[in-house]
Amino acid sequence: MGNTCANSVSASALRYDLHTHSIRSDGTLTPADLVTRAHAAGIGVLALTDHDVTDGIGEALFTANQLGMSLIAGVEISVTWHGHTVHIVGLNIDTTHVLLQQGLARLRAFREWRAVEIGRRLQKKRIDKAYEGARRLAQGEIVGRMHFARFLMDQGYVRGHQQAFRQFLARGKPGYVPAQWAELSEAVTWIRSAGGRAVVAHPGRYTMKPGELREFFDTFQECGGEAIEVISGSHTAEANRHYALLAQERGFLASVGSDFHGPEKTWMTLGRLPALPDGCIPVWREWECSGLRTEDSALSPQS
Ligand code: AMP
Ligand code: MN
Ligand code: MN
Ligand code: MN
Repeated sequence: MGNTCANSVSASALRYDLHTHSIRSDGTLTPADLVTRAHAAGIGVLALTDHDVTDGIGEALFTANQLGMSLIAGVEISVTWHGHTVHIVGLNIDTTHVLLQQGLARLRAFREWRAVEIGRRLQKKRIDKAYEGARRLAQGEIVGRMHFARFLMDQGYVRGHQQAFRQFLARGKPGYVPAQWAELSEAVTWIRSAGGRAVVAHPGRYTMKPGELREFFDTFQECGGEAIEVISGSHTAEANRHYALLAQERGFLASVGSDFHGPEKTWMTLGRLPALPDGCIPVWREWECSGLRTEDSALSPQS
């Protein structure tokens, strides 16, 4: 296959960011504001990948369409694998797919139970009404630990959200509730049956031992997972290089994502990611030829 396609969106010249959040999960911008900011930052193709929810996609598509940029429908699915929480991004998904939406609904129901439980555990540390506070900050259906972190900051219990995680919300801390998210095979199946590509999010962030991480990638590949984030806003330059090599060795497609949550967070900015190293096959290569799923469906702000 050559690199020219009849209905190409001349994507090779575009800047990609395929991992971002809005207020529909734990980001701070509306989907419309996120897209507007990404456009201003020079991004040509943006994926909205909220945690366990796709509610923001309609609004994001509407704004992207108005601005003439491409919006990829995405999601970041919470997975428990061998006791570790890992995140699997789904890209270019059909958000109306029933199996995917049933799976995400189950994860949101667990999230809601967990949020109440986090509130209960913080109450034991004499922190009042944390669930109510986090719920209020959330604005959408998803209540995550980030909302608890913001609540703890607003109330003066901690100075920053990193401290909130270190002191209260990380594994082993008083507000931590062990999670049972989706199985790895389920998450990949939901994404693939909705027509999307499954991508391991920010692989450099996991704390698994090297052998365990290898086993994780093996299982992900056996389940039908095809891509990893080689470039991540939460990676060091060394991690970017490491995962570029790993993608090439294992035959993974390579993705690029900032994991932007809002302008308040300084280490994950929009539009500043390095390019994919030579030798990596971009996860979007096929979209350049077959057209983006989103182009013919960016009609209404709702859906
Ligand atoms: P949840 O899915 O609700 O358990 O929350 C996970 C989210 O919390 C991640 O997507 C990050 O946005 C945020 N997060 C997790 N750990 C940390 C940390 N140590 N510091 C800051 N944010 C974190
Ligand atoms: Mn998050
Ligand atoms: Mn993540
Ligand atoms: Mn994320």
